Amino acid sequence: MKVPFVTKSQLDQITAQYPTPFHLYDEKGIRENARRLNAAFAWNPGFREYFAVKATPTPAILKILAEEGCGVDCSSLVELELSEKCGFTGKNIMFSSNATPAEEYRYAKQLGAIINFDDFTHLAYFRENVGDFPETVCCRFNPGGSFQVTNDIMDTPGDAKYGMTRDQMIEAFRILRDGGVKHFGIHAFLASNVLSNEYYPLLARVMFQLAVDIKRETGIAVSFVNLSGGIGIPYRPDETPCDIMVIGEGVRRAYEEILAAEGMGDVSIYTELGRFMLAPYGCLVARALHFKHIYKEYVGLDACAANLMRPAMYGAYHHITVSGKEDKPCDHIYDVTGSLCENNDKFAIDRPLPEIEYGDLIIIHDTGAHGHSMGYNYNGKLRSAELLLCCDGSVRMIRRAETADDYFATIRDFI
Ligand SMILES: *Cc1c(COP(=O)(O)O)cnc(C)c1O
Repeated sequence: MKVPFVTKSQLDQITAQYPTPFHLYDEKGIRENARRLNAAFAWNPGFREYFAVKATPTPAILKILAEEGCGVDCSSLVELELSEKCGFTGKNIMFSSNATPAEEYRYAKQLGAIINFDDFTHLAYFRENVGDFPETVCCRFNPGGSFQVTNDIMDTPGDAKYGMTRDQMIEAFRILRDGGVKHFGIHAFLASNVLSNEYYPLLARVMFQLAVDIKRETGIAVSFVNLSGGIGIPYRPDETPCDIMVIGEGVRRAYEEILAAEGMGDVSIYTELGRFMLAPYGCLVARALHFKHIYKEYVGLDACAANLMRPAMYGAYHHITVSGKEDKPCDHIYDVTGSLCENNDKFAIDRPLPEIEYGDLIIIHDTGAHGHSMGYNYNGKLRSAELLLCCDGSVRMIRRAETADDYFATIRDFI
């Protein structure tokens, strides 16, 4: 069973002040989870998590993570600007982008961020359009093929647009060294939302072996390995969460066997997690507005896919709790919908839930990452507020809801 981090009586108080829908984040959960991650990798003195800003680009959240020792991973000019405004500087910023405009590279270099080159051809592009390489540079690896643990295919990097081939990585490192680069890193993101504790250790083995090969073939010793994102969370109630301590230990063993054995025991491990850091510690709170009885039973909410795109976009499962009815039997079957003129605007299809009544507060779980941030304005829908449930039990609005003025602000051709 999935238990919301907020109770009915807390939500009644919150909704008395802030209208639904809104995304609510759990500061305590975010901090405790970040501490577990840091503990799991405490064996590596240089360890750092660079939170994937795209998952939750909200300054109050980024500040909490900064207090827990995290840096940020940015992939656009505006994410870089946001991170700078939040106080992140220099090596606390990774810049992992693809199809990157020169202006973005220039800005990342100016901030002293660690640039992660997505492609071999970007090296020449950078020198031509930006200038000398920074002292510290990372390259993104794509081994091709499919990535699997025993027989379980997790993803197919061979179909992904990211990263360089092995030969390109080796050649890139030679070019970078000749171009004055002093510190090198390698990065790969080979599978997404993986619940297996074996993903990171297996990825680490691939990356550590690559680091050894790079050293043998070029003499260059990498100073960090970025394992990127991909650790999953249990969206469904019957799924088992990852055990981050087991994952950290698995990576440590690979480190000892491959890197330390080659005298490369001073390599720092970086991660770039988004979903794992935030998804479970956010929820979308909406109200039941309408009931419709045609060929199926529908409940219509005051939120829609513009507030949470994942179900419509990927058919993603998000668990739903009817606040205050946690102990009632799930003996009704509903399609839970938003109000967009798109039939895929459904938060759930054929979902067993307790009987829902007008005004019930509906908690959509695990929206802390790739939730509000994927919001959009289709159908003239406005993005909701974001609220933070603080460690002391108080609630702060950390982003206001959009207004119609925001919607009209970009228009330049009113008659
Ligand atoms: C999206 C992304 C991440 C975070 O991925 P999660 O699956 O949310 O952990 C990390 N690194 C890069 C480059 C990304 O694009």
